[in-house]
Amino acid sequence: MSISQLAKSIPASPTLALNDTARMLKEKGESVIHLGGGEPKSKAPIDAILSASAKLLSAEVKYTPTEGIPAMRKAVVRYTEENYDHLVSPENIIISNGAKQSLSVLLQAIVDPQDEVIVLAPYWVSYPEMIKMTYGIPVIVTPEDGRFEPRMEDIIAAVGSYTKAIIVNSPSNPSGAVYSEKLIAELVAYCEKKDLYLIMDDIYHKLIFDGTTWTSPYKYARVRDEKSKLIVVNGVSKAYAMTGFRIGWTVANRKVIDAMVNLQAQTTSCASGLLQAAAVGALNGIQTGVESLRTTLQNNRDIMLNELRTIDGLRVQNPGGTFYCFPDFSAYNKSSAALSKLLLDKVRVVTVPGNEFGMDGHLRLSYCGSIKEIKEGVERIKWALDPNAPNEIFIGDRKMVRDWS
Ligand code: PMP
Repeated sequence: MSISQLAKSIPASPTLALNDTARMLKEKGESVIHLGGGEPKSKAPIDAILSASAKLLSAEVKYTPTEGIPAMRKAVVRYTEENYDHLVSPENIIISNGAKQSLSVLLQAIVDPQDEVIVLAPYWVSYPEMIKMTYGIPVIVTPEDGRFEPRMEDIIAAVGSYTKAIIVNSPSNPSGAVYSEKLIAELVAYCEKKDLYLIMDDIYHKLIFDGTTWTSPYKYARVRDEKSKLIVVNGVSKAYAMTGFRIGWTVANRKVIDAMVNLQAQTTSCASGLLQAAAVGALNGIQTGVESLRTTLQNNRDIMLNELRTIDGLRVQNPGGTFYCFPDFSAYNKSSAALSKLLLDKVRVVTVPGNEFGMDGHLRLSYCGSIKEIKEGVERIKWALDPNAPNEIFIGDRKMVRDWS
């Protein structure tokens, strides 16, 4: 059967594949610990549910304008003013089916075949594939060994005459690193000088810890009118625990938004009006859920770090945000794919191998689950890695037998 070159060049999403394997094992009754997850386990905000319920009860759920319902665009105008200290109009906003669609339609709108887009490692798995789907070329910039923040000079060295854009994700999936204010300031100034798009994927910007300051990129923008090539992507998935509602948005100059509207109109039309109503409820409603999620995650992070620091030879950095950490396991196994497979096969712990994020030797571990899962998950990993550990142990209520060397 013939399928396109493009389809052949895109591998299965590794994180979704891991979720499938974990689900299959769980269905078979296996005691699987999922440290590979990408969503908070808290419930959606009550205001989101009430708002969507009212919409549903009206029994009028129709197509909406491609760019989103006026109330949702207005809510994003307010969100941008409050969180970014930046004034935009509804015409600078398009609502999409999740930040994932926002990013992919955005890339379709600005990238020509052979254009290069700079991606900063370790990066979210989807960026390179999304760029390839626009026939653009991802150019990866890797930080110095042991760091998660790239050096500005390395980014500049990667920019060439084909460079169209730089994608920044801070706090970062998978490392949890919050980039320094200095780097953000330099990136904004550099992209303005070079007339490059700077895409800020801010999906985790409210989930930061220890009073770490997150910097609004607009703070350093000298161009703040319709000539601005600074683009912000955000959504309700993470901070509002609304991953399944699939609502994200893009804030950009009108020309980019108009192009995105045309592209989205011919693919998915609009995001569901019902789910946009939910997102309006979340953005305009009581915000206490975001703060309680943030403190829960900070506590979970502390627990995971404490557990991980008892494993000899592991290099662990303190994540400033998100719900991931990205320790370096290369003292045990340089191949993250092999190690991740061993942990799933032998101790039934799901992790995501760092090679998927452009940094081998690391594993991404999520702490968005329960404390019990975090503790038991790391305990199992520790046992699996320690050659001097007893051959048989009970971890939780599961007996484990070492049948490998
Ligand atoms: N960007 C990053 C860095 C992410 O981790 C995710 C979700 N895993 C997204 C974007 C997409 O989020 P959404 O659910 O809004 O599509």
